[in-house]
Amino acid sequence: MVDTNNDALKSILVVGGGVAGMQAALDAANQGYRVYLVEKNPSIGGRMAALDKTFPTLDCSACILTPRLSEVARHPNIELLTYSEVEHVQGTLGDMRVRVRRKARFVDETKCSGCGDCARECPVEVPNEFDEGLGFRKAIYVMFPQSTPNVYTIDSSACIRCKRCVRVCERGAIDLDMQDSTVELHVGVIILSTGYRLFDVRKYPRYGYGRYPNVITAMEFERLINAAGPTNGHLIRLTDGAVPKRIAFIQCVGARDVKKGVPNCSRVCCMYGVKNAVMAREHDPDAEVSVYYADIRAFGKGFEEFYEMARSRFGVNFVKGRVGEIIEDPETQNLRFEVEDTLSGRILNVEHDLVVLCPGLQPADDLHRLAEMLGLRTSEDGYVEIRDALTAPLETDHPGVLVCGCADGPKDIPDSVTAGSAAAMRATILLSSGGAK
Ligand SMILES: Cc1cc2nc3c(=O)[nH]c(=O)nc-3n(C[C@H](O)[C@H](O)[C@H](O)COP(=O)(O)OP(=O)(O)OC[C@H]3O[C@@H](n4cnc5c(N)ncnc54)[C@H](O)[C@@H]3O)c2cc1C
Repeated sequence: MVDTNNDALKSILVVGGGVAGMQAALDAANQGYRVYLVEKNPSIGGRMAALDKTFPTLDCSACILTPRLSEVARHPNIELLTYSEVEHVQGTLGDMRVRVRRKARFVDETKCSGCGDCARECPVEVPNEFDEGLGFRKAIYVMFPQSTPNVYTIDSSACIRCKRCVRVCERGAIDLDMQDSTVELHVGVIILSTGYRLFDVRKYPRYGYGRYPNVITAMEFERLINAAGPTNGHLIRLTDGAVPKRIAFIQCVGARDVKKGVPNCSRVCCMYGVKNAVMAREHDPDAEVSVYYADIRAFGKGFEEFYEMARSRFGVNFVKGRVGEIIEDPETQNLRFEVEDTLSGRILNVEHDLVVLCPGLQPADDLHRLAEMLGLRTSEDGYVEIRDALTAPLETDHPGVLVCGCADGPKDIPDSVTAGSAAAMRATILLSSGGAK
C-alpha cells in the first residue's frame, strides 16, 4: 500500500479498462507513474473487445486490441484491479485516498493458469453476456478468449457448488469460500474512463425488439458476424438459421429523440451502422442491405469516404426517413414496415428478413454513483460535465479528477484513445507540478 504524499504524487488511478482507460494507463505508466487500473468486469478491454471490425479502416478489432491488453497486463508500472469497484474516495489533487472493493472471483488470480479445465468440467451453462446472450458460457468462465488477466471467475449466481471445478483444478486455485476484500490506494489523480452503456431499444415498442427474434441490436450483429462469436461468424437468423437476404439497419434508436429523453446525437451510430451494412454485404454480396437514417453524420477523418464507399462499392441502399411500426409475418417471421423516403417523398412498404437496430450511447450504469461520490456535476444526459469545453476538456469540477473516453460523452475509438493519452498527459503535468493547479 502506498501511503506517503510523495508516493501519491507519483500514482494515478484509472477507473474503467476500456480502450480509453487502457491508453491512459499505458501512457502514464510509460512516463514512470504508478498506475492502478480498476475495472468492474473480470477482464479489461471494454466494448472494443466485442466488436468485429472497426470503422473506418475495417481493421479486425481484436487484432488491434489484443497486443494492448497484454502490454497493460505486463507493464511493471500498472497494477490491474479487475472485478473491482471504487467504493470511497477522500481528498483532492495530489492526495486522494481511495477504497476499492475487490469482488470475490472464487479463483485465486495468483494460481490460475487460465487452462480452462474447470470450465470444461462445469455442468452449468448460462447465457453469455459477452455474446449479448446469444451464446452460452459456463458458471466458471473467462469473458472472451483473450481475457486479461487470463484468469477464470465463478459467477456465484449460476454456480451450483458441485465442486467439480475444485476437483479438476491441478493448481488448487479455486476457493468457493472466497470473500470480497478491499484495498486502500493513495493516489494523486483519478482518471474516469467508465465508457458507455447502450440505449435500451425496448423503449421503442414499435420496433418489436424482444417480441420479434429477427429484430436484433447492432451489438448482437457484431457478435453474430464475429468468428469468435456464437455462430462462428455465420450471419444467420436466430429463428430458422437461414441466411438473411434482405437486411435493414435502423439508425438513431435512442438518439436525437426528444420524446425519449435522448435529444443528443450519439456520434458513433451512423458510422457503426454504415460499417455493419458494409460487413453484411461482405458476408453475402447477394444480400440487399438498406440503411434507414435521419442524417448521416460522417464527420471524422476518412468517414465521408467510407460512407461513399458503402454506397458506391458495396451497393448499400440508403433511405432517409423514420421507420414506422414493424410487423412480423407470423409464417415467415419476416419483418414489414412503412417508411417515408423524405428525399423522394414516396411512401415505401418494405419487407426484410433481418432488422438491426442501431442504439444510441448512454452513460455507464455506475457513473452517477461515482460522480456523486466525487462531487462531479453531470450534464442533462448524465455524462460527466467537463470544466470548460474549450480550454479544459478533460477536467472536471474536482481538481484531482480527469475524464476521458465516453465518460463525458459518446466518442469513437480514435477519439477515445486520443482522450486517454491526453488525460494521462494532463495527469502527469498536474502531478509533476506538485499537485498545484
Ligand atoms: C455496435 C457498436 C459498434 C461500434 N463500432 C465502432 C467502430 O467500428 N469504430 C469505432 O471507432 N468505434 C466503434 N464503436 C464505439 C466504441 O465502442 C467506443 O468508441 C469505445 O468502446 C469507447 O471506449 P471507452 O474506453 O470510452 O469505453 P468502453 O469501451 O465502454 O469501456 C469502459 C470500461 O469501463 C468499465 N467500467 C464502467 N463503469 C465502471 C466502474 N464504475 N468501475 C470500473 N470500471 C467500470 C467497463 O466495464 C468497460 O470495461 C462502436 C460502438 C457500438 C455500440
